[in-house]
This record gives sequence, structure tokens and C-alpha cells, in this order.
Amino acid sequence: MKVFVSRKIPQMGIDLLLHEGISPVIWNEDRLMTQGELIENAKKTDALLCMSSDKIDKFFLNACKHLKVISQYSVGYDNVDVAESIALGIPIGNTPDVLSDATADVAFTLMLSVARRAFYMHKKIINGEWSFSRPTVNLGIELKNKTLGIFGLGRIGLEMAKRCKGAYNMNIIYCSPSSKPVAEDELKAKRVSFDELLLQSDIVSVHCTLTAETKEKFDLSAFRKMKKTAIFINTARGIIHNELDLIEALQRGIIWGAGLDVTSPEPMRSDNPLLFMDNAAILPHIGSSTVEARNAMAKLAAENIISGLRGEELPHLVNKGVYNI
Ligand code: NAP
Repeated sequence: MKVFVSRKIPQMGIDLLLHEGISPVIWNEDRLMTQGELIENAKKTDALLCMSSDKIDKFFLNACKHLKVISQYSVGYDNVDVAESIALGIPIGNTPDVLSDATADVAFTLMLSVARRAFYMHKKIINGEWSFSRPTVNLGIELKNKTLGIFGLGRIGLEMAKRCKGAYNMNIIYCSPSSKPVAEDELKAKRVSFDELLLQSDIVSVHCTLTAETKEKFDLSAFRKMKKTAIFINTARGIIHNELDLIEALQRGIIWGAGLDVTSPEPMRSDNPLLFMDNAAILPHIGSSTVEARNAMAKLAAENIISGLRGEELPHLVNKGVYNI
């Protein structure tokens, strides 16, 4: 059995595959491959281990119907046409949980960086603008006892809420399709409507899945409902906020600041105005980029491939209906 691996992953995952007698064919070029190249390579193997940047759409799935399993090296799978994968009977796996701490750490880092304008201050030093101390200049805001609004209280949102409760005794509110008893019991979190979240939060942190409903959910009308002192954090997917509206909200002081680990498109252009603002902090989609998370993701991704090729149910299955057809 062979699996095409669309980007180099930690050796731990490759070793697991080899131990099972599965031969990995790894894309070793340091560039994104085209969909044509992905299809060409996947056609020669029994399984695919891919990234969230690979387009697993209707066209790809129909060109590679023979695949016994597709294992995605990420938790988000908005790049996959789930309905089509079910119709074609191809199980899709992902890598949940193991990256929640790492990604919540990035959300927390961005929140603190925006509150103290840390990225901008760093640029000022580089630009030779570190002069004498002025009591009314370079002021940030404090986070103790503030209200954190989580949009999408799933695995990563919960970890962000725990950090904010523990470090700053924050009041936690959240907006999610279903209620979250664990967060309500342990963190005294309160479920609110979208509008209440916007109106009450000092920090809004986005952790939802990207869907048709969440796409561009944060636009100018949403930013206008937020406090002028509010911080907007997005570590989920860039297209959940409207970038031009966010720029306007930051430039006009509609909100205090924003921290993003995700943008649309990615990579962000190096002349994007957000990179030059005093109230924005941008990171290049590094949520899961820790040694620990990336090793654990490699293990889960390999386990999904192994189960799929054995004809067993994937341990981390995304397209639940696939075994019922
Ligand atoms: P998760 O546990 O599935 O959580 C996603 C949450 O989104 C769920 O709790 C879900 O609520 C909520 N949601 C779905 N539709 C919603 C809506 N219309 N309004 C409000 N909330 C909604 O996933 P996760 O592991 O926390 O990951 C979340 C996302 O983070 C991923 O999908 C991915 O896009 C992103 N991510 C980014 C990085 C990075 O490097 N920056 C790393 C990992 C993940 P219910 O539970 O009520 O359905």
C-alpha cells in the first residue's frame, strides 16, 4: 500500500506508516503544488495525507475516487467537499485536540500583544523611535476582570477561555450553536446571542469552524456593535472577518485593536495596511506550530491512514455519514 504525503511532516508519522508496511511517497519540493500535481500524485497511491491548503473539492474527489482514505494534517477541513466525499464513500480524517493548547496560546499571545501594542512598539525600536519616557504615550490596556467573548466555544475556544479565566479572572461569555455545560460549570461561562457577545465583550476571540454561516460574520456592522475599547482576535480562519471592514474599524477607532493568526488570502501581502498599523498584530498562521503539536498531529494523521487502509473506521473521522452509504 502507498500513501501520497503532500508536504513533509514530522518523522514520527512517517515511521508509524513504515512500521505498518505502508510506503509514503512524500512531496519534497519547497513550494505549493498545483491541484493538477496533487491529482497526478494521488492517482498513483491508495491513500492521501494532505494539508488544509490542498483543495479537496468535488473535482479532486472525482478524479481520485479510488482513494481508500484521505487524512488531513489539520483540525479544520473547510477545504474538503464533505458531502461529495460521503457520496463517493471516501473516509476523511483530521487531527483534533492535539493542537488546541498551541492554538489557544497564539490567541492569548495576540490578545496580550494587542492590549500592549507590542508588535508596534517593536517596530518603533527598529525605526529608531525609542526616545525618552512620556507618561501619556505608548499606553496599553489591562485585562484583569475583563469580559472575554468566545465565538465558537469548541476545543480551542475552551482552552482560550481557561487561560483568560486563570490569568485574569475574566468573565467568560460565548456564542455557539449548542450550549457547553463543562464551560458553564467550570468557568461560569454564559451563553449569549451574537449581538450580546459583541456588545458586552472587552475581547472577542473567534474559534468557530468556517461555514457558510460564519463566513464574513465579522463585518463593519459587527465591529460597530463592539466597544470602542474592544480587542478582536481571530485564530480560526481569515475569511470569518471582512478584512476591509476590519481595517476601517481599526483606522477609525471603532475598536481598540485586532490580532490575527489567519488572513484571507494567505499568505498576506507584505504591503497590507494591517502590517503597518499601531493597533494590529499579525502572525503567519502559526497556531499549531509547536514541536509537540506537530509531532502529535503527525501521529494522528498516520493513525487515520493506517485504519483507513486496514478497512477500519478512522479514529478521527470528519465525514460521519461515509460508512452509512
Ligand atoms: P471545534 O472543537 O469543532 O470547535 C468549533 C466550534 O465552532 C464548535 O464549538 C461549534 O459550535 C462552533 N461553531 C460552528 N458553527 C458556528 C456558528 N455558526 N456560530 C458560532 N459558533 C459556531 O474545533 P477546534 O478544534 O476548536 O478548531 C476550531 C477552528 O480553529 C478550526 O475549524 C480551524 O479552522 C481553526 N484552527 C486554526 C489553527 C491555526 O493555526 N490558527 C489551528 C487549529 C485550528 P458547536 O459545538 O455548538 O457546534
